[in-house]
Amino acid sequence: MPMKAAHSCRSIIVHCIDFRIQKFLISWVEDLKDGYDRLSIAGGVKDLPFVLEQLEVSHRLHHIKEVYLINHEDCGAYGKQGSAGTHIRDLLKAQKEIVEKYPGLKVILYYLKLNGSFEPVD
Ligand SMILES: [Zn+2]
Repeated sequence: MPMKAAHSCRSIIVHCIDFRIQKFLISWVEDLKDGYDRLSIAGGVKDLPFVLEQLEVSHRLHHIKEVYLINHEDCGAYGKQGSAGTHIRDLLKAQKEIVEKYPGLKVILYYLKLNGSFEPVD
């Protein structure tokens, strides 16, 4: 197998550290094909500069094609500002910045409810 293929994966997933969502993420990632890098960070996309920095590494080293950004309901990192609307706004902003910087990347957004439902955002 060529070295590049051996050291590539299809996607990166970005989600919050919150223990309450991990069981949902574990079963969700089973459906992802061809490997993924994983960034677990308080608030998901809340710290966008940090997310972009990590994404750059993933893109450069692993030649990713897809980005999954997952914010969740009742996120403590957002505190009182964390309405569904705030999360959706931040997810869309992150998507816009990523697509501007990496036009070839597909960016998929989810708002994860605490009942385990992955709500698509577009
Ligand atoms: Zn959170």
